[in-house]
Amino acid sequence: MTMHEFLHQVSAKNADQPEFIQAVSEVVESIWDVYDSNPQLKKAKILDRIVEPERVIIFRVPWQTDSGEVMVNRGFRIEFNSAIGPYKGGLRFHPSVNLGILKFLGFEQIFKNSLTTLPMGGGKGGSDFNPRGRSDEEVMRFCHSFMLELFRHIGPDTDVPAGDIGVGKREIGFLFGMYRKIRNEYTGVLTGKGLDWGGSLIRPEATGFGTVYFADEMLKVRGDSLDGKTVCVSGSGNVAQYAIQKINQLGGKVVTASDSDGFIHDPDGIKGEKWEYLLELKNIKRGRISEYADEFGKKYFAGQRPWNVPCQVALPCATQNEINGEEAKTLVKNGCFCVSEGANMPTTPEGVEVFQEAKICYGPGKAANAGGVATSGLEMTQNSMRINWSREEVDSKLHNIMKSIHAQCERYGKDGNFINYVKGANVAGFLKVANAMLDQGLI
Ligand code: NDP
Repeated sequence: MTMHEFLHQVSAKNADQPEFIQAVSEVVESIWDVYDSNPQLKKAKILDRIVEPERVIIFRVPWQTDSGEVMVNRGFRIEFNSAIGPYKGGLRFHPSVNLGILKFLGFEQIFKNSLTTLPMGGGKGGSDFNPRGRSDEEVMRFCHSFMLELFRHIGPDTDVPAGDIGVGKREIGFLFGMYRKIRNEYTGVLTGKGLDWGGSLIRPEATGFGTVYFADEMLKVRGDSLDGKTVCVSGSGNVAQYAIQKINQLGGKVVTASDSDGFIHDPDGIKGEKWEYLLELKNIKRGRISEYADEFGKKYFAGQRPWNVPCQVALPCATQNEINGEEAKTLVKNGCFCVSEGANMPTTPEGVEVFQEAKICYGPGKAANAGGVATSGLEMTQNSMRINWSREEVDSKLHNIMKSIHAQCERYGKDGNFINYVKGANVAGFLKVANAMLDQGLI
């Protein structure tokens, strides 16, 4: 079978899942040479097996609003691949959530988790529940109902969910509380927990910090650094907030942040009390990014994305397909030479092509944002050992993991002076899982 025949087969079988097809195509196109030249992998049909989740769970989530109205959402957990460890991956609560989006995220997670060097399989889950505008009590009732079904499918050695869009410390708290009550046991079944009840220091910061550490590694190869660079960030949630903090610490200047309604441009940099205001605005007040512009007299661009603001470094930290081909061209034209993806699959295939052709430093999400799940892995280890590592210890482990991911990308993606990080990440992530599947036989 040729690569095109294989991809055609996947597309036909999953015709209503465009994001999943996009994610599979990107991986398959970059590993095909390796796969095609390995008769053992082909005979065992590893690719046919790896694109099929081990298990998909879909369930009803009934709950009540504050006024007593009955609501029904759909819950999902995709247990994609457990060849190298328990399923691991976040939960997303957002109205756009559907089976195809969660399958794309779960598929990406297999290779990302493999790259971290920690023993974690790939999974993802969530619901089409929209937390926006809901009271804390409504979010609690939803989370409790969600866990009343999910609990029977997860466990510290089976499947360990975490946060993602719309799921932060508040939601993880409600989910953990219900799990603990039903099971009557205190285990590391979720990561991203509060510090006083089993969480790890640096876990909230980990994805954003890791994305910046990865950008720093890419720049080092060119004898450059983040010091003095102008940086565009999208998003203003968990990943964006700590990416901004780490850029500030390394001497860069972040001039944009966004949410699903628009973006703000702050030419003086989002730093100091302005950064603290952003955290309070998004995490406590749960307000809109436009309020930042009002507060500090900056420009707000409703309904737009930040990619036409000139920068040297871009960190997309909001959602999938948020940089299209045209936006990628604009970034490169304006002098951007480093893109490190905090979000999952934020660049469309056309955009990726633009970055690759321009030969800029382009770190795809599965490598650049792996610091979050890696630190979740460290949280699992601390829970099992019933110990807490210091902030410095976790940060240094995170930093070393990001360096190791960069080294793996370099090993498999080096092409003369250029490093193809997409190829490097996919081949390195794939080979480990594929070999584990071979060793374990036809299951
Ligand atoms: P949050 O919910 O904390 O923040 C998400 C941010 O992105 C918000 O600013 C949100 O705006 C914006 N956003 C969400 N959906 C859209 C959309 N459709 N269009 C434009 N903006 C949007 O999520 P995280 O920061 O945790 O996640 C951000 C990205 O990082 C996701 O792609 C996630 O998969 C990825 N990621 C997260 C990890 C983690 O540890 N949390 C780990 C690895 C990857 P609004 O407030 O308007 O909704």
